[in-house]
Amino acid sequence: MSRPPAAAGSGARRARCPRCGSPVLRQLVGRRAALDVTADVGELTAAAAEALRHPNRLHWCLRQTRDGPDMRWADCRRRPGPCPHPHVIDHECTGPPPAPARPASRGRARSTPVSDGQLTL
Ligand SMILES: [Zn+2]
Repeated sequence: MSRPPAAAGSGARRARCPRCGSPVLRQLVGRRAALDVTADVGELTAAAAEALRHPNRLHWCLRQTRDGPDMRWADCRRRPGPCPHPHVIDHECTGPPPAPARPASRGRARSTPVSDGQLTL
């Protein structure tokens, strides 16, 4: 059984990386195209996070809200002056590569619920 993904905007939750076991923050960040973010829990200054950033590793502006921590796009990078909020950066996993997916059982004919005489277009 798998838990349904958290709805966007529900704030960050603490979790553990399934691969290396590091504590991480997970959240769907963004309103329209939500990104499933897994970030290290270690809080950095915006400048330190920026120094670690590269195109495949974003950092996030961590706000404390009434409902707990909430990761936001680091739009503050574009604003003048240092961001007063702590930042967290994408988790870069040092754990073993994920176990290979179970070999797909190909060739298994999918039975369609459409009866033979019925044509669906
Ligand atoms: Zn990891």
